Amino acid sequence: MKLFEYQVKKIMREFGILVPRGEVFFDLEQAKNHLEKVGEGVIKAQVLTGGRGKAGGVKIFSNPAEGFELAEAILKMTIKGEKVQAILIEEKIPIEEELYLSIFVDGRIKKPVVIASKAGGVDIEEVPEEEILKLPVDPLIGVRNYHGNLVAQKLGLTGDLGKQLATLLINLYRIFETYQAELVEINPLVISREKLIAADGKMTVDDDARFRWPADLPFNEEKTPLEKRAEEIGVSFVELDGNIAVMANGAGITMATLDLIAYFGGKPKNFMDAGGGANAEQMAKALDLLISTNPKAILINIFGGITRCDEVAKAYLTVKQQREITVPVVIRLVGTNEDIGVKMLQEAGVESFSSLREAVIKAVELAKVGGDN
Ligand code: GDP
Ligand code: MN
Repeated sequence: MKLFEYQVKKIMREFGILVPRGEVFFDLEQAKNHLEKVGEGVIKAQVLTGGRGKAGGVKIFSNPAEGFELAEAILKMTIKGEKVQAILIEEKIPIEEELYLSIFVDGRIKKPVVIASKAGGVDIEEVPEEEILKLPVDPLIGVRNYHGNLVAQKLGLTGDLGKQLATLLINLYRIFETYQAELVEINPLVISREKLIAADGKMTVDDDARFRWPADLPFNEEKTPLEKRAEEIGVSFVELDGNIAVMANGAGITMATLDLIAYFGGKPKNFMDAGGGANAEQMAKALDLLISTNPKAILINIFGGITRCDEVAKAYLTVKQQREITVPVVIRLVGTNEDIGVKMLQEAGVESFSSLREAVIKAVELAKVGGDN
């Protein structure tokens, strides 16, 4: 689960890390008084996705009227599909230097790793390898002063700033451990009036360590409205950014279908794993949801085991009776009761494939004819 910047900064403050003074607001009216009180500052959209600054979600204001205008605009924004629900209004701090500091779990070496770079304020993925320090941490020992010294050296921090860094890193690691984080990131960590200040904060906590989370950790809903609807139906559903909607029955067959779509030059818009043993009614609801995502084509790939092919055919025909399906649907049906299912579809004038390859090629073709999405 990801945390919002204002939540991360609250935790940082509690753990002794300096952050700009700020307050979070969920509506414009509340923000108004505050804007008049502070006069100038920075307004930051609160979203869980990254790259908010580039998307126009971080703005500086120098009087209350300007602040109000920006606050209103930012509260109406949608950033990478995520509606902005709150703004953080912070004091504007003079920035002498922007640095990068984070701790994340490196699955390959099964250890936390401290990442530090002088190139702050930009995506760490864009920074050349040689400008980045990666320091593995033994989880049984944790972060000690010598880690701080190495990081300070890489960041070019000496004297008091070096000492501040060592303390800050230890505190950051305490947060990392306490909250069972997968990532804590300060980008940029800024030098401002001889102090190290976390100007931004990101944090992801490990869902599998939920039982170890501190009780006061807020819960953030990360599912999209469609993903929530799918959950209610009882199927797993994930949104992507192509134009072919995919339904299959089982995680393995679903992933294989996505791979084949990519192999034949197509792009999935989403995928739905209807699981084994979904009934016709559930399938019909699931199909309805897929249609509502407005894809250029729908590919249904069912390998009937517990799921019976006639149930799948029935689901499709039910939906087809209830509503006009204008999007082309490609069905691949093999396995249990295949003959019955195929016959039902044939009688209704719907072609089905037994070859997955042919079905995928057909779907990719149809999605292309339908134009870009
Ligand atoms: P992100 O784009 O979502 O990572 O947003 P950040 O919170 O990192 O802000 C993006 C950039 O805005 C920073 O790298 C800074 O250059 C600038 N910025 C943010 N807060 C302040 C501030 O208080 N004062 C000044 N001068 N610049 C700021
Ligand atoms: Mn940032």
